[in-house]
Amino acid sequence: MNSYRQALSKLKETLGDSKVFDDPKILYAYSFDASGLSSGRPFCVVRAFSREDVVATLKVAHKYSIPVTVRGSGTSLTGASIPSENSIVLDLSPMNKIIEVNVVDGYVVVEPGVRLDDLNSELAKYGYFVPPDPASSSTCSVGGCVAEDAGGMRGAKYGTFRNWVLALEVVLPDGETVFLGEPVMKCRQGLSLLHLMIGSEGLLGVITKIYLKIWPLPEKIVRLLALFNRVEDAGRVVAETRRNGIIPLIMEFLDRNVLKFVREATGLNLPEAEAAIIADVDGPSEAVWRYAEKLKKIMERCGAFYVKASDDPSEMEKLYTARRAAYPACLKLRPMPAVLIEDITVPPSKIPEMLKSIYIIAEKYSVPVVVFGHIGDGNLHPVIYTDPRKPDLWSRAEKCFEEICLAAVRLGGTIAGEHGIGLVKRKVLVKELEERKSLKALELMKKIKYVFDSKGIMNPGKVFL
Ligand SMILES: Cc1cc2nc3c(=O)[nH]c(=O)nc-3n(C[C@H](O)[C@H](O)[C@H](O)COP(=O)(O)OP(=O)(O)OC[C@H]3O[C@@H](n4cnc5c(N)ncnc54)[C@H](O)[C@@H]3O)c2cc1C
Repeated sequence: MNSYRQALSKLKETLGDSKVFDDPKILYAYSFDASGLSSGRPFCVVRAFSREDVVATLKVAHKYSIPVTVRGSGTSLTGASIPSENSIVLDLSPMNKIIEVNVVDGYVVVEPGVRLDDLNSELAKYGYFVPPDPASSSTCSVGGCVAEDAGGMRGAKYGTFRNWVLALEVVLPDGETVFLGEPVMKCRQGLSLLHLMIGSEGLLGVITKIYLKIWPLPEKIVRLLALFNRVEDAGRVVAETRRNGIIPLIMEFLDRNVLKFVREATGLNLPEAEAAIIADVDGPSEAVWRYAEKLKKIMERCGAFYVKASDDPSEMEKLYTARRAAYPACLKLRPMPAVLIEDITVPPSKIPEMLKSIYIIAEKYSVPVVVFGHIGDGNLHPVIYTDPRKPDLWSRAEKCFEEICLAAVRLGGTIAGEHGIGLVKRKVLVKELEERKSLKALELMKKIKYVFDSKGIMNPGKVFL
């Protein structure tokens, strides 16, 4: 404990009392993230205002071998930003400057604590945006999005953050700073350490500056709502859409129960159906209605009993709000105290089979499961309800979680499309790699972690069992 006392006084001496906190109430507030899990209590919190603050913190942590958990906004759904016992929480939210918008060279430079919606509000003034849009965009930080390789609704067309990061400034665990990538349209710098950092969940270093590619805002969007009597029919829309040469901007799925929860939680007047799809098509004004009509016909051919396309702003906003409210509504109206949220992703052609499997597996283990997700890129978020106070129910929920993961892997998919591994998916990551006969990959990951962080101080206990 002596080394902790020394580390604390060194941090206070270097950074000043106003940036270092060890008040138990503050430590408690930093003990959680949006996963609802809790773990150890940090031993102190550092609020970093600059790269120099990050360097100073990591130098102390490295010297005294104290774990560090980097925190953006704490919206991780996998427990990635929960501190391990007696760690330093490095809160980057004060590093929230938009440093440069460069439209001609096609990038924006930000500090990691900038909130994603704030970034896109600023870029909108220039007619640009950064497309990936996790439903937490009003809260989550850009640094957290890069560290999680976050996706979102527009992933259907634009993928995850990985596709948008051009360069990063990173402070390594010993306090040294490196610059990875370049803000140019092509860059081949040997082995891509840049891409190792994206999705690294705070395990390899601290991202202190981010260069992101920017894209012109869609000229016009038409939003469609389609309702289905059979979940698998909704599932067939994605493959049919692609077969017909349309890549929607968003394509979101909500099942009967999620629709009900959203209706009750938001008061929005949403129709009843076994499944709903909310989809956007975008493009030049002259063409977009043509795409929308084509998509409407595809949805009807797949069995939709109702499809409405609209460019009326209030109608569009209502549907967007409904989708963004899906997860909070599932939590607000939960029939049981806890949830396990999945993040499986399968090839578009396998979505109908995946959806069917989810409900069969839920029935097998007799646990309530509701489903929503970014169906346009095959990414589904089944929500499994459970209760940690009831061991039998908890164990059935865990088995259900695992079996859904494995069903996705067996259909050629993965256990984690965009939420990362954190604490929650460590076991199923091993199962996925086992299933692929690729445990060697896990060994390589651990060696890479060691190369970056030989003392193992960065976010210990996460990703690897
Ligand atoms: C209601 C809700 C909806 C969501 N919807 C989506 C969605 O649609 N798509 C999606 O992908 N995710 C979604 N998420 C999950 C979450 O919002 C994303 O993973 C987001 O990117 C996390 O950002 P954050 O700033 O909160 O990161 P945090 O939770 O603070 O951190 C996440 C991880 O990144 C690390 N980290 C954070 N900043 C840095 C940094 N600068 N350098 C190094 N490591 C860092 C942390 O140590 C941790 O391991 C949702 C969450 C909620 C609560």
